[in-house]
Amino acid sequence: MKEYEPIYVTKPFLPPLEEFQEYLEHIWSTKQLTNKGTYHDMFEKKLAEYLDVKYVSLFSNGTLALISALQALRITGEVITTPFSFVATTHALHWNGIKPVFCDIDPVSYNLDPQKIEAAITPKTTAILPVHVYGNPCDIAKIQDIAGIYGLKVIYDACHAFGVTINGNSILNFGDLSVLSFHATKIFTTFEGGAIISHDEVTKKRIDFLKNFGFAGETTVVAPGINAKMNEFQAALGLLQLNYVDQSIEKRKKIAEYYRLNLSRLPGITCLEDVPGVRHNYAYFPILIDKEQYGKSRDELYDALKKNGIFSRRYFYPLISQFPTYKGLESAQPGNLPTAEEITQKVLCLPIYPDLELDRVMQVINQIRGHKHYTKKRGSLA
Ligand SMILES: *Cc1c(COP(=O)(O)O)cnc(C)c1O
Repeated sequence: MKEYEPIYVTKPFLPPLEEFQEYLEHIWSTKQLTNKGTYHDMFEKKLAEYLDVKYVSLFSNGTLALISALQALRITGEVITTPFSFVATTHALHWNGIKPVFCDIDPVSYNLDPQKIEAAITPKTTAILPVHVYGNPCDIAKIQDIAGIYGLKVIYDACHAFGVTINGNSILNFGDLSVLSFHATKIFTTFEGGAIISHDEVTKKRIDFLKNFGFAGETTVVAPGINAKMNEFQAALGLLQLNYVDQSIEKRKKIAEYYRLNLSRLPGITCLEDVPGVRHNYAYFPILIDKEQYGKSRDELYDALKKNGIFSRRYFYPLISQFPTYKGLESAQPGNLPTAEEITQKVLCLPIYPDLELDRVMQVINQIRGHKHYTKKRGSLA
């Protein structure tokens, strides 16, 4: 029975298979599989238009895009970053031989707290690597001010922020570079995939050399690049997905509104709210659980949901700073990151994806409200 099918935190959106079939036939007939193919170049152009950004460089995944973005700007020494993200953010620094310096987050946006950035700057600092976590915009103005004063580069990990705008302007137009991911769990997927957004042609060119072993021509290698190219299958899916992404975001928005309507007044539950002037993408629906008021801890709720076939996720727990590679760093000590430590213990991301029906959302809501059994009354608040 439908009611008892498991509900996962996300489910990728795919366009109708027949539509993809046509692209496959083209690939089969041309035998062009990768290396700046027709679909690659079309997708790069269409994506730049959709996102309203100047230059897009497509990548095989977001992690290689992050690693290459740091290479492109020759970032070295120390970089200030957030512990409240997916591990790839910090791993990208590690793979470049850069020392991550963790800085605490803001208690409302869960993003890097600009008030605390300056204290983390040393003579070795060369850049800031903030994350628009859950697609919620960082304090871009304050971060830019600090970067300007200290001569630092800013690379945004915008892997959650596809389609997000502030006062009609893409969030990707801020900072020196922004990095996107099109992984299967993201709101816009090309199976695996990613991109770097840049603002001038020279930088775009350098990024494109880097993702193809450093080749600048048939026999010219200008840099020790890597293989991080997006293939034609990924690009073809990307082209199709562009036709559906606005619809997906609209459906997600309805789910987010339904959760908020039914959960925000529940004692001990805090929902992440929309920010005025921001077009959100509703990639995630995080709530904070306060044990004192709610009566159950986050982990108790997580387990209770799981027992009832609802698979929420504790994004982002543990903090990146708690993983073995990083926990010895001075900046990783819990005393340096009090807000991040608190949020990571309280946060839970609820299921949200375009095809999730509202009666299934109601099931999740009812569970959180402490109902032990599913109610059969659809859409009822009982
Ligand atoms: C998904 C994600 C990445 C990595 O992207 P992949 O495409 O999976 O390599 C990096 N940073 C953040 C914040 C992410 O959510």
